[in-house]
Amino acid sequence: MSTTTSHQSFAVHPSDHCVPDDERAALLAAPRFGTVSTDHMARITWTAADGWHDRRVEPYGPLSLDPACAVLHYAQEVFEGLKAYAHADGSVWTFRPGANAARFARSATRLALPELAEADFVESLRALVAVDKAWVPTGEEMSLYLRPFMFASEAFLGVRPAQQVDYLVIASPVGAYFTGGVRPVSIWVERGYHRAGPGGTGAAKCGGNYAASLLPQTFGYDHDCDQVCFLDARTKTVLEELGGMNVMVVGADGTVRTPPVSDAILQGVTRSSILALLTDAGHEVREEPVVLAELLAQIASGEVAEVFACGTAAVMTPIGRLVGDDFDVTVADGGAGPLTMSVRAELTDIQYGRRLDRHGWLHRLA
Ligand SMILES: *Cc1c(COP(=O)(O)O)cnc(C)c1O
Repeated sequence: MSTTTSHQSFAVHPSDHCVPDDERAALLAAPRFGTVSTDHMARITWTAADGWHDRRVEPYGPLSLDPACAVLHYAQEVFEGLKAYAHADGSVWTFRPGANAARFARSATRLALPELAEADFVESLRALVAVDKAWVPTGEEMSLYLRPFMFASEAFLGVRPAQQVDYLVIASPVGAYFTGGVRPVSIWVERGYHRAGPGGTGAAKCGGNYAASLLPQTFGYDHDCDQVCFLDARTKTVLEELGGMNVMVVGADGTVRTPPVSDAILQGVTRSSILALLTDAGHEVREEPVVLAELLAQIASGEVAEVFACGTAAVMTPIGRLVGDDFDVTVADGGAGPLTMSVRAELTDIQYGRRLDRHGWLHRLA
């Protein structure tokens, strides 16, 4: 990806209708994921002629789009998700933004969108959080969810990469993912539909992948499951990932396995961070195919002790049950195993500044 050493600054156009302090305090007391936005959004425009320009922070509000806007027809769009964490001393930090910036650039390339330099990506987060710092919640396990995204904003019905693109960052305060303690989820293992395939867009974080996962997700609900795990499209025998989280399997001997990243699996920042922490702690970590039939047998025999999903939103979610069209197995103790819970605590302790950041993962935003 292209890199610039010095960032260009964002012009700030302050909102004249900010949410009053008391109303904001009430919203921050019990935020529900993705329902409330801060007062501002960061934005950069790209055109084929002028490249990236007009870096600004402006009042949050509806976009005005031409009905022929390319994203509405051909889904040329990519996004990211990361969080800003308030530390006890009042400073605000984010976690490994360079990894998200690099993934955003890879996703953009796959969708024939222009690359945004890491310096612009990180500076857009800093500029928005600087203006909306009062929106970073301070309660336990609370954070400000940051959603950078880029889409084809050119009004043109022809099929080709758009020549006008908009990049925005919006932010939403979020509470503890699990209220009342971590709850293991049930997973529907989908055999008929896939979220990605060889040579497809599975490794890109694009809205289209999510659209493809919604129907199978409803099959999961029909089977009383919370989420869906997808299998590989070619052999339908190995686990890939959930609609928005990577998956890991913990052996009774402490070995941890996860499917290797491929063009059908999203390279999660949480995934890579967990693998690093486990390696630090002396666990054997194997990135290798997880065969469904073997996994079911190993859960039944007790060889597999814990299964969990991981991603920025929930950090780590224990998987208590796997259900498919001809099986229904419960993981030992119904999930929420000790390794899942201890690595989850270690990772969140680093993010909230309660534990030494050995890897230099934290980046100060405000
Ligand atoms: C975002 C995402 C993940 C998790 O990535 P993190 O960087 O850990 O948040 C996993 N799978 C898919 C399909 C995703 O879109």
